[in-house]
Amino acid sequence: MSVDEQPIPNRYTRCRWAQIGFRPLWRKNPMTDDTVMILELVRQEQEIWDLFTRKEEYHAKIVDQYDRFPHYASECRNIFEPHASKYLLEHGYQVEYPDDRPFAVCLTHDIDEIYKSNGAKSIAVLRHLCDARFSECVHSLKELRSKKIPWWNFSEIMAVEEKYEAKSSFYFMVQDPGDQDYTYRIEDCEGIIKGLCDRGWEVGLHGGHTAYTDPTEIREKKERLEKVSEKPVVGYRNHFLRMRVPDTWEHIVKAGFEYDTTLGYADCIGFRNGMCHPFRPYNLRTQQEIDIFEIPLTIMDNTLFGYMNLNFRTAWELTAQFIDTIERFNGVLTVLWHNTNFSGDMGRFYEKILSYCRKKDAWMTTGADITDWMNRQNCLRP
Ligand SMILES: [Zn+2]
Repeated sequence: MSVDEQPIPNRYTRCRWAQIGFRPLWRKNPMTDDTVMILELVRQEQEIWDLFTRKEEYHAKIVDQYDRFPHYASECRNIFEPHASKYLLEHGYQVEYPDDRPFAVCLTHDIDEIYKSNGAKSIAVLRHLCDARFSECVHSLKELRSKKIPWWNFSEIMAVEEKYEAKSSFYFMVQDPGDQDYTYRIEDCEGIIKGLCDRGWEVGLHGGHTAYTDPTEIREKKERLEKVSEKPVVGYRNHFLRMRVPDTWEHIVKAGFEYDTTLGYADCIGFRNGMCHPFRPYNLRTQQEIDIFEIPLTIMDNTLFGYMNLNFRTAWELTAQFIDTIERFNGVLTVLWHNTNFSGDMGRFYEKILSYCRKKDAWMTTGADITDWMNRQNCLRP
């Protein structure tokens, strides 16, 4: 029987997504009626269930050099369509956002680096000089004035987002000298971290290279970041999008996070488990729901322009197509734009996303806000 031919169970038809899929974090019984209902529904279609649970990743034979399951190894070839979300919506799920906005945009920035080296700046000056691009040359020369230029750009990012009535999440790394990809001390960022929080932006943890398999590391880094921010840290994304299904989710739950937003492919934009809505993952080993929200990642800057190697025109056409799709499904578009990609065409591309989504009246906000909203929706049910 095809998806279209399946009867729609009456008890689902009037349910809102929030009533079925989300529940308060303090309700610790992992198998609530709500969860049972959503799981029962997704289970009805084996292909959707396998996609939703990421079954093929449990015994993955192919991983890339960072131990990541890549899109090219997946049996699901069309990840430009949110198959699981589509299935749920066809069976009566509805999603609502504040002020009846049609869809949401979860804006995020992984803070891998905040200081560009003088060597890299000098090379840029010479390159522009050789290419006779004198205005860019002058611009690069100005960057040599301060080690905070151009990547200590938190105020500029906030200003751009404010222009479009948007807010975002910044995920900071908590590393020590000698760690892989160590570039800054989190304690040196205390002022800006508190500034971001005070203005309503979110600060989350960007777990290091090995964190995705190490619950102790995740917990310790969370505590250290909270010491700096003097606020609870609820959001998580692992560096390089490294994650192991379902173990990383379990580690994040144990560390006390409320949501994760790592689940996306590095090598291709799209819907890795067919969902364009936040959801609670399911552990096929324990046969239990995992007590965390996953806000799946849709678009990363380095995927568009690095892994997929698209030019700006094609990248924009694809991005606009994704935004239109997510609008159609009342979903959540999760964008990862590194702070190191805010100058020139890259910065303009990010602003184009904000402008396009603003015109469509999207709710553009932090992962914490989206998680909080979903939880409160559930609390309001009769
Ligand atoms: Zn990173």
